[in-house]
Amino acid sequence: MIVLYVILIILVLEYVVGEVVDYLNLKHELKPISPELAEKFTFSLRKKMHLYHVANYRTGFFHSLFSLVVILTLLFSFGFGEIDSYIRKFVEHEVMVSVVFFAVIGIAASILSLPWQVFNVFYIENRFGFNRQSVKLFFVDKLKGLLLTALIGGFLLTLITYIYYQFPDNFWWLAWVIFAAFSLFMTMFYSSIIVPLFNKQKPLEDGSLRTKIEEVAKRANFKLENVFVIDGSKRSSKSNAYFTGLGAKKRIVLYDTLINDLEEDEIMAVLSHEIGHYRKKHIIINLITGVLQTGFILFLFDFIASYEALYVAIGAEKPSFHLGLLVFGFLFTPLSIIISLAMNYWSRKAEYQADGFAATLGYKNQLKSSLIKLTDKNLSNINPHPIYVFMHYSHPPLNNRLQNLDKN
Ligand SMILES: [Zn+2]
Repeated sequence: MIVLYVILIILVLEYVVGEVVDYLNLKHELKPISPELAEKFTFSLRKKMHLYHVANYRTGFFHSLFSLVVILTLLFSFGFGEIDSYIRKFVEHEVMVSVVFFAVIGIAASILSLPWQVFNVFYIENRFGFNRQSVKLFFVDKLKGLLLTALIGGFLLTLITYIYYQFPDNFWWLAWVIFAAFSLFMTMFYSSIIVPLFNKQKPLEDGSLRTKIEEVAKRANFKLENVFVIDGSKRSSKSNAYFTGLGAKKRIVLYDTLINDLEEDEIMAVLSHEIGHYRKKHIIINLITGVLQTGFILFLFDFIASYEALYVAIGAEKPSFHLGLLVFGFLFTPLSIIISLAMNYWSRKAEYQADGFAATLGYKNQLKSSLIKLTDKNLSNINPHPIYVFMHYSHPPLNNRLQNLDKN
């Protein structure tokens, strides 16, 4: 039973800390901002931003509470053990029991989270003028996502579970090799295989923007053919840009909304920032840290999974891969939070580096104005609480980015 109480403490603590930090963040937004920001963001705009964040905070609060109650109920009523026993009435093969178990949990989790997502997209995002999705597109996306997870996730899961039972002595490193190969494959081909299932990506159209980009790309040693425009506007009016892929498969993706919202020189600034990610090798560093992390997690799981107490705690008939992984997932929460803090810290550093790179290409002021415009358009928080930033932000807050750019 001790395992169950440890999980209870971990989950409740995670929830309480998360909620307190969310609340602090919401209140912090109302505190005074720097004169430079106050000049750019009017009172009515700040009020609209705050209302948007209040709406998200409220739904987040109830959604987290709902999830916590569902998980604790399942744990303390031995629900996970019951689901396992029930599946075993119909399925004999251990590997198949694991696959069916995760399918049942996955489908149940998607169904339970669906009303929250519908509310978010069709009520909150609609109310603030962000949503561009029809109900049909939303559900077609969901269906595609589910099929894709079933196909890719199902395949990976079957393979890993098979190794777990067939080669228990070499499990962790064999699974690691498979995951590493899969991450590398996904980093390379995500944009050309997965993204086209949901979006259209087109090369930049001819025109003055293309000519300008050609010039900068040459200066920064980046191939123009790797710059794409994606039709993000079919789902949301929010704008974005990102860098992805490795080697010949690398690409910079600009949202069509970004191209509409910004002046040409500001688009150039954003593009230079993305080239900065490439030149500073951020993708490859992310890939390597991700692979190392997976190895560490698999090793730890392998080490812990043999403890009978894990399975007794959730009312299982006998040890199994899926229930071991489930309990391990709960127990691992504190470590996974620490890992995500470190990853966010590193990611914020990388953003400063990419901003610095754009400044060296001569786009310092244009990057500043584009960051301000995007914050305005996307109703981002211009005054987040430092603890919230430390825990959740992969990008530094606007004010810090502006200050950092001024130093360049
Ligand atoms: Zn960036």
